[in-house]
Amino acid sequence: MARQWISPHVVVETEHYGSNQSAIVGSDGVALVDAPHIPSDALTWRHFVERLGTVRFLINTDHHPDHTIGNRYLPGEIVAHHETRRRLETEAPSMQYLHDLIGRLDPHGVHLLDGYTVRLPTILVDQSMSLHLGDVHLELRYQRGHTRNSILIHLPEDGVLFSGDIVCEAGLPSFQDSRLQDWFDAIDAVETYDFELLVPGHGEVIDRAGVDRYRELGRAVVADIVQRLDAGHEREQILAEVRFEDNIHVATPRTAGYPDDLIEGFQVNSVARLLDDLQAQPELRHR
Ligand SMILES: [Zn+2]
Repeated sequence: MARQWISPHVVVETEHYGSNQSAIVGSDGVALVDAPHIPSDALTWRHFVERLGTVRFLINTDHHPDHTIGNRYLPGEIVAHHETRRRLETEAPSMQYLHDLIGRLDPHGVHLLDGYTVRLPTILVDQSMSLHLGDVHLELRYQRGHTRNSILIHLPEDGVLFSGDIVCEAGLPSFQDSRLQDWFDAIDAVETYDFELLVPGHGEVIDRAGVDRYRELGRAVVADIVQRLDAGHEREQILAEVRFEDNIHVATPRTAGYPDDLIEGFQVNSVARLLDDLQAQPELRHR
C-alpha cells in the first residue's frame, strides 16, 4: 500500500525509499512526521501535503538521514529532540556523501542537492510536548531507543502512535545508535500507549501484534550473539558471522539502494553495538 488514509486525520506514505512519512490534518493546520530520504520524493510529498492545509510542523523522530534529508524541501517549523538538532549540526552527512548516495538513489533528483543545507529543528523537545492542530493534538515524548534522541508521537483522538524506528514493520533498521537496554525498554514503552494503529519508521502500518513481532526480531539477533559468546567465539569472529536481514537499505524496483559497503558497515556496527553492551552488562542477555 502506498499512500493511505488510516484514520480520520492521518494519511501515511509507506512507499517512498527510506522512512515512512505521515501527515496529521487538524481543523487548524497540518503536522508532518518525518521527511523523505530522496529529494524527488520530498517534492512529490510537498505537493500533496500543501493541499491538505497549512503545514505548521514537521517532526523528525530522530536525526538519521533517511528521516531528515527531506526537511530541506518541506514547509513547517521543524520539531525534534534537542539532541537531534545537535547531531544534525555536528554529524550531518557531507556534501560528497550526499552526492554519491543520492546519485545512486535518485539520479534524476540529484540536481536538487544544489545549494543543499540541513534544515535544523527550531522547536526542541526535552521530555514531552503537545502540539495543537484545532480538533486534534499530538503528544510528543522523549524515548531513548533506536537512538538516544528518539521521540514517540501519539494522536489520542484517532488512537494512532507514530513510533519512528523504535518499531519497524519492514524488519530491523541499523541499530548502531541503539543501546541494548534502551532498545527493548522503548518497545515496552510503546506498548503502554493506548492505540489501535502504529505507524512504524519503515514498512506497513501495524496493530499491537506487530510490536511483538518486532521485539522478537530483535531478540533473535541478541540470542544469536549470546549463543556465539557462550560458544567462546572471539569478538572479530562474531562481527564477521552475525548478520540480520536488511530490507531497508537494499535495492527496490525504483532505486539502486545503498552501496554494499555501506550496508555491510551498518551490519557490523549494529552487531558491535549489541556485542559491546552484552559484554559490559551480561545481565542484558535475558532482556
Ligand atoms: Zn529509519
